[in-house]
Amino acid sequence: MPLLNRESFFPEQTGELGLVQMETKLGATMPEIRERMGARFRPGVLEACANAGCRSGWLHLWRSRSAPVFEGGWNCSAACTGARMYAAVVREVQGRANAREGHRHRIPLGLVMLEKGWITQGQLRKALEAQRAAGKGRLGYWLVRQRAVSEQMVTRALSLQWSCPVLPLDHHDAAGLAPVMPRLFVEAFGALPLRLAVGRLLYLGFEANLDPVLALAIERMTGLRVESGMVQESLFRPAHGRMLEAKFPPVELVEAVSEAAAAHALARAVERARPVASRLVRVHDCLWLRMWLRPQNGPLPESRSVQDLVCSIGG
Ligand SMILES: [Zn+2]
Repeated sequence: MPLLNRESFFPEQTGELGLVQMETKLGATMPEIRERMGARFRPGVLEACANAGCRSGWLHLWRSRSAPVFEGGWNCSAACTGARMYAAVVREVQGRANAREGHRHRIPLGLVMLEKGWITQGQLRKALEAQRAAGKGRLGYWLVRQRAVSEQMVTRALSLQWSCPVLPLDHHDAAGLAPVMPRLFVEAFGALPLRLAVGRLLYLGFEANLDPVLALAIERMTGLRVESGMVQESLFRPAHGRMLEAKFPPVELVEAVSEAAAAHALARAVERARPVASRLVRVHDCLWLRMWLRPQNGPLPESRSVQDLVCSIGG
């Protein structure tokens, strides 16, 4: 049984009474306790382990261990990090983090443009035939190619189809926005972080299909609000290329055979890096662990002060 209960113990809340309780329970004098605590005796640091199943109680306060912190809670030991990580992996894999996926039924792009009167039945039929014959290319591409509409009209139609804004590319700061997510996601999901506006709003551009799952994962991971929108194709491509050349945070890729193996690998990474903060979210079929190695000043970390780990669970 733990020496004291599992509640967080903040000196500013309990004051001398807390110390007296410790003095009584641990058989040490107050100056001795203060000395052993040293600099770690600060509000918010002297907390109980965040693992609800932890059995080590107060003894771990004597370890020189103020990190790692995972999802807002300090872990007293590698075993406790592992237990909390496993719970987080199960939560993400079985949870409803991807519930937004596929919930929106969209009107076909051709129909949007037909309804707006931007194209005729004949133009739509011709573009669909060309698309079928070629076996590739989006409808918008074929409509533009046949000079039925402009590229700007296609982008506008896509924004109507997805009920999202058309986003401009002005002042795109690829280097500044690279720390928002792993390079892998920018590449694999065709996302383009565009701009960070006041009020912690991140504009995320896409070429033809929004990715609400990725947007939600970024919101959960960064605490930023994400506004997704369409970027005109001919502007998107070069900007996306420049983005991929920016300096992203280091990422480690892990393939795990089971949820337990994933939790093991992720917990080991947290134990190794000893982050001051870390969090796990699911992005499609991957688990994304981000570790902040230093306290952050702004809404986006410096790329060297975070480490990402992307884990897929096979089988
Ligand atoms: Zn513990």
